[in-house]
Amino acid sequence: MTEKGTAPFLTTPLQYLKGVGPRRAADLEHAGLLTIEDLLYRFPIRYEDRSRLQPIAALKPGIPASITGRILSCGLRSTRRPGFKIFEALVGDASGALRATWLNQPFLRDVFTAGQHVVLFGATEIRGHGGLQMTNPQYEILDEDDTETVHTGRIVPVYEKTGAVTPKMQRRLVWDALQKLPTDLPDQLPDDVRLRLDLPSRYAALRAAHFPPDDARIDELNRFATPAQQRLIFEEAFVFQLGVIARRRFAAAEQKPTVVRVDDRIRDSARRVLPFRLTAGQRQALKEIVEDLQRSQPMNRLLQGDVGAGKTIVALLAALVAMENGLQVAFMAPTEILAEQHFLNISRLLEPSRFRVALLTGSMAAARRRERLAEIESGAVNLVVGTHALVQGDVTFKQLGLVVIDEQHRFGVLQRATLRTKGLHPDVLVMTATPIPRTLALTVYGDLDVSVIKDPPPGRLPIKTAAKPESRRDEVYAFVRAQLDAGRQMYVIYPLVEESAKVDVKAATEMADHLAVEVFPQYRVGLLHGRLKADAKDRVMKAFAGGELDILVATTVVEVGVDVPNASVMIVEHAERFGLSQLHQLRGRVGRSTHQSYCFLLYQPPLSDEARERLRAMTETTDGFDIAERDLNLRGPGDFFGTRQAGVPTFRMIDLIRDRQLLDVAQREAIRWFDQRRPASGEVRTLLTNWEERFRLIEVG
Ligand code: ADP
Ligand code: MG
Repeated sequence: MTEKGTAPFLTTPLQYLKGVGPRRAADLEHAGLLTIEDLLYRFPIRYEDRSRLQPIAALKPGIPASITGRILSCGLRSTRRPGFKIFEALVGDASGALRATWLNQPFLRDVFTAGQHVVLFGATEIRGHGGLQMTNPQYEILDEDDTETVHTGRIVPVYEKTGAVTPKMQRRLVWDALQKLPTDLPDQLPDDVRLRLDLPSRYAALRAAHFPPDDARIDELNRFATPAQQRLIFEEAFVFQLGVIARRRFAAAEQKPTVVRVDDRIRDSARRVLPFRLTAGQRQALKEIVEDLQRSQPMNRLLQGDVGAGKTIVALLAALVAMENGLQVAFMAPTEILAEQHFLNISRLLEPSRFRVALLTGSMAAARRRERLAEIESGAVNLVVGTHALVQGDVTFKQLGLVVIDEQHRFGVLQRATLRTKGLHPDVLVMTATPIPRTLALTVYGDLDVSVIKDPPPGRLPIKTAAKPESRRDEVYAFVRAQLDAGRQMYVIYPLVEESAKVDVKAATEMADHLAVEVFPQYRVGLLHGRLKADAKDRVMKAFAGGELDILVATTVVEVGVDVPNASVMIVEHAERFGLSQLHQLRGRVGRSTHQSYCFLLYQPPLSDEARERLRAMTETTDGFDIAERDLNLRGPGDFFGTRQAGVPTFRMIDLIRDRQLLDVAQREAIRWFDQRRPASGEVRTLLTNWEERFRLIEVG
């Protein structure tokens, strides 16, 4: 296995390339490009066939093509529309000339001058009296010394412009790097795997993926389906899957300090705390979890269930089993509000039991916190609810047996690693309400076992959802007033744009005042936003949960987990600004009882196509999996998971949607390799370290 031997050439800093001085190196670094490897492992976004550049006279209207020629004249033209400017260039080659126009890009004045040698790519149309025109074509200015082979006369790669690094600059750098690429570049793929799958070598693949051979097919290239591209995608997938398997095997070798037993006494104790009958889905999930608890290796399980599916009680019953076995439980929530809510909820449910529950938060007074810490260390407390500080900070447990992590997409899966470094090997149950599309679960959470709760608790009615333009706000108010009159409570959600938290808070505050004074004077209105101090948030949330407030105006802090069954109406302001999964999460705050619930998505027209799709999806379905699939298709996986989300791998070549099939093959091959080779544990450890670093799975800070 050559994993540790990333060829030294690839780690060479880019300064080593011709024409890269300190200034350009800084630009490149800014664009995330430090080494030759960074450069070569960034695919072009598309390919352009400049191998047979057409004479201008031969262009056919409507068909995109590349041409090359000289700028005969150019300049900025005003139009009848005030402030609207058109930049025009007349470009000629030996066969004729065409007009290129760019709308509203006056800066092009400083880009083009007459006499320049340019390449244009775009579709032509016939204008006026038979003249040819390209509107907003892609352009590149060639230098006099640009060799035919790099920028024209072949299929050329087009890279994404990042910061000050232009596509053309990147093409030149990649070309230079490839000239120096050692032909005996070590291959990351084991030979037998590569040969069996008939994949080109790493060396050949890198060359052909950037500068395809003349006979490559442009459509295949643009689908990333050529052997060279497939090989590089596969390489990343294979290395990734190896890590996933290593992690799994590594975990399988871990031993828990105490293995849990389950007997009738424990079953009775569970029955005593259970306030309702579990659904079939909950029973099944619980069974899987309890089976894990009884194994000698630590559990590493993801409990998936749409918002309101009833995950908490399942986790609590698992906690009870652990506690009956003399083990402590850490129950972690993503925010203090949620931790507090879980604490109240769990304390109430565990009242008939002999177990002691404690809350531990960052905002607690120091003396009280010290007291709690002592109780946790002595074992006087059986279950601790808190935020992630619970496993990261100064908390010492007497006998930690189970860690429950709620709403993991705020956390990352990697808490487990933190635990391990502290010498703890508890069972870990991660809960998420973000339904990971089936197609991705395996890739992203490949090292977790998964339980899914599909059926909602009995008697739940699907939430009725409607998208309404601003102009129909009064109708919406009239409708919700009737609900408030009937005793229901309502959320009004405001979007939070992080860059301007102040402005957002102001908007939400004004909204709350407006509703309280002018629209619903007879109802009590509360306000919740992220800038409030923790205890102020708590007060508001408790007041709403206790029915002392009828309307809660909130920024997205209520997004996850909050459970107020009597709140059955939601208005989302500026719904067009929210992502689809986020809207779904928000909507999940209602529909938590047998009351019919309603969700109004108020939007500000005109809607972008994507925003329209999102709102349509919301009105068409309440199925979280369906929503997740649609969201994934709308946004692509990077945005779907969010960039800041820890625990989700950062891929360089893989596109989780496009490359699903290849990922499956890679998984199969990686398992096979692992089983045949049986690497020693030291080797596995090295592999894992490299792997976590490479896919940025280590949490920073
Ligand atoms: P989530 O999966 O979103 O965390 P919760 O655990 O908060 O959902 O449960 C949502 C609501 O449904 C809670 O009020 C909970 O008490 C209730 N609930 C959960 N399971 C059942 C059940 N089997 N029967 C009736 N109500 C249930
Ligand atoms: Mg929950």
